[in-house]
Amino acid sequence: VYDDLDPELREACEDVVLNRRPDAAERLLDLAGRFRGQNREGKEADLAWREWPVEKRLSHALVHGITDYIAADTEEARTAAARALDVIEGPLMTGMNVVGDLFGSGKMFLPQVVKSARVMKQAVAYLMPFMEKEKQERGEVEKSSNGKIVLATVKGDVHDIGKNIVGVVLGCNNYEIIDLGVMVPADKIIETALEEQADIIGLSGLITPSLEEMVHVASEMERRGLDLSLLIGGATTSKKHTAVKIAPAYRHETIHVLDASRAVPVVGNLINPETRKALDAQNRAEQRAIRDQYEGKTGIDLLSYEEAIRRRIQLEWNESSVCVPAFTGRRVLVDFSLAELIPYIDWSPFFHTWEMRGRYPDLLKDPIRGPAARELFANAQELLREVVEKKLLIAHAVYGFYPANSVGDDIVLYADASGARELTRLHTLRQQKQSPRGKPQLALADFVAPRESGLIDYIGAFALTAGHGTDELARRFEKSHDQYNAIMVKALADRLAEAFAECLHKRVRTEWGYGKDENLSYVELISELYRGIRPAPGYPACPDHTEKAILFDLLEARQATGMTLTESFAMLPAASVCGLYFSHKESRYFAVSAIGRDQVESYAARKGMDVSQVERWLSPILGYDPSRAVRNFQVVVT
Ligand code: SAH
Repeated sequence: VYDDLDPELREACEDVVLNRRPDAAERLLDLAGRFRGQNREGKEADLAWREWPVEKRLSHALVHGITDYIAADTEEARTAAARALDVIEGPLMTGMNVVGDLFGSGKMFLPQVVKSARVMKQAVAYLMPFMEKEKQERGEVEKSSNGKIVLATVKGDVHDIGKNIVGVVLGCNNYEIIDLGVMVPADKIIETALEEQADIIGLSGLITPSLEEMVHVASEMERRGLDLSLLIGGATTSKKHTAVKIAPAYRHETIHVLDASRAVPVVGNLINPETRKALDAQNRAEQRAIRDQYEGKTGIDLLSYEEAIRRRIQLEWNESSVCVPAFTGRRVLVDFSLAELIPYIDWSPFFHTWEMRGRYPDLLKDPIRGPAARELFANAQELLREVVEKKLLIAHAVYGFYPANSVGDDIVLYADASGARELTRLHTLRQQKQSPRGKPQLALADFVAPRESGLIDYIGAFALTAGHGTDELARRFEKSHDQYNAIMVKALADRLAEAFAECLHKRVRTEWGYGKDENLSYVELISELYRGIRPAPGYPACPDHTEKAILFDLLEARQATGMTLTESFAMLPAASVCGLYFSHKESRYFAVSAIGRDQVESYAARKGMDVSQVERWLSPILGYDPSRAVRNFQVVVT
C-alpha cells in the first residue's frame, strides 16, 4: 500500500523519480546508507509494527490483512477500554475506514479488502462473548451500523460469489448485511426486509431466467408497498434491462450496480436521505433516457424465419465430412483426479472474479496490480493444493457420442448408427438479425449432417461438476470467520469445473479421431484454437436454458454425477458445466441474438410448449414485445 511506505524514504524516491530537487540523488544515497546490511527480506523490519501502540497495531493488521495477532491485540485493546463495544467503534472502525478509503481511491484491491474483512470478523468474534455479557449486566445497546442491507440470489439461481463479495465489502463499511443465500423466493426476501426494517434490498443472479425473477421481486415489492431501495447485480443483469424491465415495476429507486467497488458509494448515497434523493433523480433521468431510446426503436429489423432458414450455412456433406467416434452411448467418469485438471485451468477468469482485470500471467507482473495479484495467486495455489491433497472437492462427469442428423433446425439423436430409432431431439435457434455482408444466418443444427444427405453424423454431449463439497468447505471457512477462503474455494471450484470441460473436450477430440495429432500449447488450448466447439445451453449460440433438461435426461446426468437442475435450469452444484460437442471444421460460436415471433411459434411447436412459455424463457432475445398487440418487427423482403 503506497501510503504505508516509510514517508521519508517515499519522499526521497519521489524526489528522484519526479526530479523535484537538485540534490535528490545525494539525499537518497544518504538515506540508503541507513539500510546497509539489512536483511533483504526485512524480517525484523516487518515485525517493527509489533512495538507500536495497540490502536495502531490493529489498524496495521486490518490494512494488511494479518490475522496472526488479532486475538491478543483485540484483548489488549479491550482491557484498556471501558466496554468491548468501544474497541469496535474505536480502533477497529478507524482501521476499516482506512481500508475503505484506500479501496475507494484505488490504492487497495478487492482480495486485500476481503482479507481485511477477515481480520475485522475475527476481532468482532473475539469480542462477541464480552459484549453479550456487558449487555446482560448493563443492558448495553446493540452496536450501531450505517444501515441494513438484505442480500439474496433470486429463486432458481445458485451463484453467489459476486453477491458474497459485495456483502463483505459493504460489511467493511459498517453496514449490517443479512445474506439470505441462494435460491431465495420473493416472499422470503420481502418478509425479511420488513422484519429487519432494512434500508436496501440487493438482488443477484447469474443466468438469464433470473432477469424475469428480478422483475417479479420488484413487482412484489411494489404490491406490498415497500419503500426501500432496490439494487440489481450479477452477470446477466444490465443497465438496460434494469431500466426497461425492472425499474418500471417498482416506484422507488431501482439501481443497477456493476461490481463490489461501485456498491460502496451507491449504498453510501442511498442511506443518507438527502443524497438518496439526488441519486434517485439522476438514476431516474438516466433510466428514462434508456427507456426512451429502447421504445423509440420500431422493433429490430429481422428477416422472416423462412428467409433466415434459406440463408443457412450450406456445408458440403460427404463421407469425409463425418468423423466416427470410438464408441457411441455414454460413459461416466467417477471421482476424476483433480490433479489432472490443474494444467487445464484458465486463470484469467479467476482474477476477474476478484475484480482484477487483465490477463494471466501478465497480470502477475503488472507494475501496479502485480503484488496484489501475486499474493492472491499464491493463496489460491495454497488452498488448491490442500483441496487436491485432502480431496475436499469431488469431480464427476458423464459424456457420450450419438449418431445424429439435423432435421430442419432440430438435431435428432438416434439409438444406433442405422438411424432407425430416434433417441431424443435437441432444438436449436437461428439468427434472424440480418448478418452483415451476406454472411449466413446460423443455427447450431447447420453443423450436423442433414437427414437429406443420407449420411449419419455424430454429436457429443456432456455434463460435469467439480463442485461436490464446495458448500461444506465454504461453510467451514465461514464458521471460522474466514470469508476470504470461503469465496476462494467457490472461485476455485468454478475454475476446476471449466478446466474439467477443457480436459474432457480434449479426450473427446481424441476419441472422435480428428484431434489425435493435436499439439497445442496451454495458451492455444485455453483460447480453444482446436477444431470443434462445445456450446453450452444458456450461452449465446443456444440461449434456451430449458434444453438442459433434454441433455440431462439423455445422459442420465443426475444419477451419474449427482447434478440437478433448479426451476430456472441452473445447475447444482454451482461449479458445473454441460453442453454439446460439434466436430465439424466449420462449427463455431455465434450469438443467436434477436428472434421473431414466427420462429418462436415454430420453436414452441417443435418443443411442445406454449408460445407464451417460450416467450418467457427466451425473453432476453425476443426481437419484439410480446405484450404489444402489433408484432412490431419488420421483415426484410429480398
Ligand atoms: N476457459 C474458459 C472457458 C469458459 S468460456 C474458462 O475457464 O472460464 C468458453 C466456453 O463458453 C466455451 O467452451 C463454450 O462452452 C461456451 N461458449 C462461449 N461462447 C459461446 C456461444 N456463443 N454459444 C454457446 N456456448 C458458448
